[in-house]
Amino acid sequence: MNNYFIKTTRTFSSLRRYAWIFTLTVAFGGLWYPRLGLLVFGVIFALTAMSLFKGRYWCGNYCAHGSLFDQVLLPFSRNGQLPGLLKSKLVRATVFAWFMYNLTSKFIRVSSLWGQWMFWDRLGFVFVASYLMVTVAGGLLGLLVTPRTWCQFCPMGTMQLGMYRLGKFLGWTRKYDRMISIEDTDKCHKCAKCARVCPMQLTPYTEFSQNNQFEHDACIRCLTCVENCPAKILTLSTAVEAEQIREASEDKGYEHRRKFSAIITRITEPASDIREYTLSYNSDTGISPLPGQFILVKIQDQPEIFRAYSISGIGPGNELRVAIKRVPGGYGTGIIFGTFVLDMEVELEGPMGHELLVDDGVDGLLLVAGGIGITPFIPILQELRAKGRRATLVYGANTENDLAFHETLLSLSAEGSGISYLPVLAKPQDEYYGHRGFVTDVIRDLDVTASHVYMCGPQGMVTAVTSLLREKGVPSERIFAESA
Ligand SMILES: Cc1cc2nc3c(=O)[nH]c(=O)nc-3n(C[C@H](O)[C@H](O)[C@H](O)COP(=O)(O)OP(=O)(O)OC[C@H]3O[C@@H](n4cnc5c(N)ncnc54)[C@H](O)[C@@H]3O)c2cc1C
Ligand code: SF4
Ligand code: SF4
Repeated sequence: MNNYFIKTTRTFSSLRRYAWIFTLTVAFGGLWYPRLGLLVFGVIFALTAMSLFKGRYWCGNYCAHGSLFDQVLLPFSRNGQLPGLLKSKLVRATVFAWFMYNLTSKFIRVSSLWGQWMFWDRLGFVFVASYLMVTVAGGLLGLLVTPRTWCQFCPMGTMQLGMYRLGKFLGWTRKYDRMISIEDTDKCHKCAKCARVCPMQLTPYTEFSQNNQFEHDACIRCLTCVENCPAKILTLSTAVEAEQIREASEDKGYEHRRKFSAIITRITEPASDIREYTLSYNSDTGISPLPGQFILVKIQDQPEIFRAYSISGIGPGNELRVAIKRVPGGYGTGIIFGTFVLDMEVELEGPMGHELLVDDGVDGLLLVAGGIGITPFIPILQELRAKGRRATLVYGANTENDLAFHETLLSLSAEGSGISYLPVLAKPQDEYYGHRGFVTDVIRDLDVTASHVYMCGPQGMVTAVTSLLREKGVPSERIFAESA
């Protein structure tokens, strides 16, 4: 089984990238200069005060041990599943009681030195010892289990939770408490990416409340899910901000989303490592997919996980097709390529998406595809051709073998069709006489000033093409993109 949890950047600010230096300075430097431990007083004061207003925000954004776990340990960590016991209230309460007992008894011992020079050294050392213990124990757990294992039962985290509840009771959180919020649950792909990257191994997408917020106490507001959500529908917002985002959200392209099932009636291979599945659904599902839309394909229950696939063919009758590229080590494509067979029933949701719904009344259409991002353009071009409309398709791939649907595209762009097809290869074989390089190399030579541009491909391609088009004077309102 491929690894469910994904290692991805979790440190989005300089503080989060380098705060671990503070941890090592206090934990190890304190062995020679114990007064360094007195700095921890400031840390405890700040995190306690902040938690009254913002829950565990400190843990995700300022904690120096958190920085050590996320920045230094993550690349070397096993990054596996946390055992349920380590997330339990019992473990949290036991560690907290033991820690407080330990700290209090040390304070009592040190207090006998009050008034002497030694007092401050010994007091500092109490904190140095606890910082060292957390660094060693948290570090080992981080390597063997997952980087943020310690954070599940960290006594400071437990204390913040208590303070947070007090802040809520006093009404102090209302204005400042930013939680993970979703623009509209109907726009969620249920892909579980937010759960797979979450350092605390939470599952936000399954637990949004009525007001579209993720109210889990253990959320450290680290933004990792926000940065990684492919639908770009997550934010860190107060309840009022979340409500405003929800109200401003348009449901165009998502209003007909529904659950339905289909039977796999055909499997073909339009290019190396790509399989196209024909899915036959019942006429009473009432769905009517549009060219440019995508559907969600369920890959597992518990938790329910789907993968988004652009529709690569519509009809005849109650049929639609999706073309799926195998991702080396991919969780979902591993399941699909390993278990999806002819005559199997699959659960779907959709159709949905509006970015690639081509406007009826516009001319000068430029379509840009990268790799498997070609899929939505097959039904789009079929429709354009049927309506006698003109368009140019620039399609980038690595080699000849990676050009999916090449024959279909050649026939769609036959002379007199009004469709111009420009494939471009980054690593062609020697005898290739077509365009070489990237899609941007071809677009640079096109007159695009009056174009409406629709693109689908890797995020890097979308970013590069967008900036080239902006340079060439295409306004952003005429550029539409979806990442594949
Ligand atoms: C609107 C939309 C339409 C799409 N249409 C299509 C389509 O038509 N055809 C198609 O093939 N795909 C399409 N996709 C992409 C598709 O949804 C899946 O993302 C894709 O199939 C990969 O899924 P996966 O679970 O196999 O990969 P994942 O396991 O989710 O991996 C995705 C990426 O994360 C990386 N990764 C995975 N695990 C780790 C790890 N442990 N550490 C570090 N990095 C890791 C992988 O290298 C990979 O690049 C579309 C996506 C969207 C949003
Ligand atoms: S990451 Fe996926 S499951 Fe999570 S909110 Fe975004 S689209 Fe939904
Ligand atoms: S839910 Fe999001 S913000 Fe909260 S801990 Fe997980 S990744 Fe961080």
